[in-house]
Parts: sequence; C-alpha cells; structure tokens
Amino acid sequence: MNTFHSTRSTTDPLTSRQAIRQGLAPDGGLYVSDALGASHVDIADIADLSYQEIAQRVLSALLPDFTTDELHECIERAYGDQWEDDAITPLKPLGDDYVLELFHGPTSAFKDVALQMLPRLMARTTSESDDPDERIMILTATSGDTGKAALAGFADVPGTAITVFYPEGKVSQVQQLQMTTQRGGNVRVCAVRGNFDDVQSAVKRIFGDRKLANALRDESHVVLSSANSINVGRLVPQVVYYFAAYAQLLRRGAISMGDGVEFIVPTGNFGNVLAGYYAKRLGLPVSHLVVASDRNNVLFDFLTSGTYNRERPFFQTTSPSMDILVSSNLERMLYYMSQGDTRLINTLMNDLSHWGAFEAPEEMMARIRSLFGCGWADENQVNDAIDRCWRDNHYVLDPHTACGYYVMNRMPRQDGVRRILLSTASPYKFPRVVNSALGLDASGDDFTCMDRLSQATGTTAPTALRSLEGAQVRFTDVVGIGGMGEFVTAAASAAV
Ligand SMILES: *Cc1c(COP(=O)(O)O)cnc(C)c1O
Repeated sequence: MNTFHSTRSTTDPLTSRQAIRQGLAPDGGLYVSDALGASHVDIADIADLSYQEIAQRVLSALLPDFTTDELHECIERAYGDQWEDDAITPLKPLGDDYVLELFHGPTSAFKDVALQMLPRLMARTTSESDDPDERIMILTATSGDTGKAALAGFADVPGTAITVFYPEGKVSQVQQLQMTTQRGGNVRVCAVRGNFDDVQSAVKRIFGDRKLANALRDESHVVLSSANSINVGRLVPQVVYYFAAYAQLLRRGAISMGDGVEFIVPTGNFGNVLAGYYAKRLGLPVSHLVVASDRNNVLFDFLTSGTYNRERPFFQTTSPSMDILVSSNLERMLYYMSQGDTRLINTLMNDLSHWGAFEAPEEMMARIRSLFGCGWADENQVNDAIDRCWRDNHYVLDPHTACGYYVMNRMPRQDGVRRILLSTASPYKFPRVVNSALGLDASGDDFTCMDRLSQATGTTAPTALRSLEGAQVRFTDVVGIGGMGEFVTAAASAAV
C-alpha cells in the first residue's frame, strides 16, 4: 500500500491517504506511485457504466488504500445533483470531432471535477493523526477560478474548513460574487489590499509560520493545508473523464472497442493533460495527447526544443487560468518518462530553480514526443477560433477551450482516429471576451453581456452564474497584507 513517494526521492514511501494529506513532498517533489499501470482498469463493459461507476473503477486502481465503501461514498457526494448534467462530463459532436464538456459543475469550470472530490478524500485522512479533534483548514490565495471551485468543494465537508483570500478589485465581477456569496458554515472569504502576487506571497509566509501553526493547533485543533493542483487527490479524479469520454464514443457507435482516440487538452499547470497520460497507463487506448497552450507557450517551447525556460515575459491573456510559466505537474510526466530516475529529476529541478531553465535528455524527449503533441494560440487566434467555431458548428467556446480548438484545426487529421477536444469552462464565465469575439456588444456589466450572448446564440447561461446578480453577499471583509494572519486565526477559532 505504501507506494507513493516523491518524484525526487524513493525513501519514506507513503500510502495514497498520506500523500493526499501532505500535498507536496518535504523535498519539494510531487507524489507519484510506481504501481501506476501495474494493473489496468477493465474497460470491456465500460459503455454500460455510469460516470460514477467508471469513477469507482479508476479511483480504486489509483488509491488502493481507500476502501470500496469509502470511495463509493466520496463519489456519490462529489458527482451528485450539484452537476447540471447527468453524464457529469457530456460528450457532444463538434463538426467531425467531439467536445467533452467538463464545466457542468457548481462553478462552471473544469476544476470542479477535481475539487468536488479532493475535500471528501481529504476528510478521510484525518483519522491518522494523534488528535481526534483535528481539522484541516485549507488556505488559498486566488486570482479567481480556483478559489471559488475550492470553496464549493470544501463547503460543509466535515473535518475541514476553508479560507480564501483574493486581491481586492483584481478579480472579475462574476468571480467576486461567486466567492462572496458562497454558502457553508466552514468557509471564509476575504479581500486583501494588494495584487495577486502580494496575496500569494503572504499566504506562503503564513504556511511557513511555525508559531502561528502551533497556536492554531493548540487553541483550535486546526492544521493548515492547501488545495494546490499538485495534490495527488486533485489529479486522480481527472483521470476518470478520459474513460467516460471513451465510454460515450462507444455508446454512440463512433468507435469500436480498442480503437485509439486522440485528446486535445487546454492546459496550464499540465494537470489536465497529465490525467490523460495516467488514463493511458491504466489501459485506455489513448493514441495521442495534444497540449494546447495560450500565448504563455512555455510547454510548446519545451516539447519542441527540449529546453524548459521560465525566464520569459509573462502575458496576461483572455485565458487567465492557462497563464502559467512554471507548469508544476510536468515534473510527474518527466518522472515517468525518465523511467523513475529521481536523480535526473533532482538535477533538472535544481537547474530550473538556479538557472530558470533545464534541458531534458534527447532519448527522453523522443519518448515524450511519441505520445504528446503541442500547439498554442495567441489572443487574436483565440478570438478567431471562437468566431469560426460558432459559424461552422453553432457551438460557443470559452477562451481556454478556444486555444484547443485552434490547435486542433491546425493539425493534420489521422485517418480514422477520433478526436476529442476537452472543454474547460462555460463561455458564460467569460461573457465579455466571448461577445467581443463574436462581434456582439461587450459593454455593460457581466450580466448584461451574458444576456446578450444568450439572445444572440440561443444558448442558456448556467443558472448558478446568472443568478449571482442579486444573490446575497456574505463576505465583505477587507484586510491589508499584515492583517491576513489575524484573519486566519479568527477563522480557525470559528471553525471549532
Ligand atoms: C485550470 C484551468 C485550465 C488548465 O488546467 P491545468 O490543470 O492547469 O492543466 C484550463 N482551463 C480552465 C478554464 C481552467 O480553470
């Protein structure tokens, strides 16, 4: 059972439960298991299974120390009627290709797939500590999307609490309302005077503050944790939708059992696409994974040149959730592609932190390139893709998915291989950008833009987004950077 260890060392193996609770390994590495792929997920009857049944199979393969009953309970709660579609991640035709919609969860973005599950897994890790009253408090700095998805995931999950800080005035109207109207007795949201980097750095300092940690533990039985995208408990739930996509293709008669399928994946932190690699290792016939980036094309440069270089300008684009220079989950792929060479991973990651760059060995790049393709789109190309997809297919894309659509349409089609574009957000999360790409009026507030988009395209905004106008705001606190520690202390004592 103790098969999880750091990408940078194989000592002190952990169970998946411990790996989820720890998040990041003490040496800075990410938790991986060499048992990945040792046994396959049975797909013979997958076309007959529900999303939840597929999840049960995939998660029990990846998290062997959780019992069948525990996983069943987590899955029922994570993928219940908070989803707008019974298929959870429905597959729809898109011209000659398909689109897998990952955005029907409570916050209308794909992070819900992982963040509806992680809290439930995490809540089942507490029993291992000495203190039976111990609670985990998630602490997050957000520039928008992750904060809301984490709030929705942890709200009222027993044994957990969550505090989210966002930079005052630096998130969109919809994003702010999504967070400040969040329900749940264990959630706290606070605006901070500063920019995102200031807030993020302050959160890191709070994590490193031993004195505060001791006080929280002694006075409130609270330990701090993060819902970071490197947590193995966030990665594994995403593996499920690759299998669910395959099952839906089979059900439609679009493929026969065993046919290879290609996935085009909008990615930033490499989490979305890495889950596809895990699916392949578990036996899903994945023929090709295409990494689609926005103008921050550090992954494209890496996959084409073999050099990862984060010393480059950072662009704030219309696809903010893919604006990333250090793609942290890439380290897991490098680990597996080096066949578990922790010394090599150490060297590469040291180079990255000392020089801002590393160079991967050629034979490793050859292995990587045999499975991963890549492409990217700048903001004009994103706008064109949204416009063209609407005109060709009468389908409205959000700016993140549009990066993938652009890349997909530039690639030569492999004969007979079905292509699936992963769609990561509802276009109604970004109504201003989408309207302007479609040549619609993009003035007024976000709700006015949503209504115009709806009228012009005959599509409907997700209820949870449209109903934010006029929803009751619960959290109005604003603190300076220096007041964040005190806010955490107060939130922790309220969480008891
Ligand atoms: C987070 C996010 C992505 C990128 O996902 P990674 O896990 O970083 O690959 C893409 N699109 C949207 C809308 C997101 O929120």
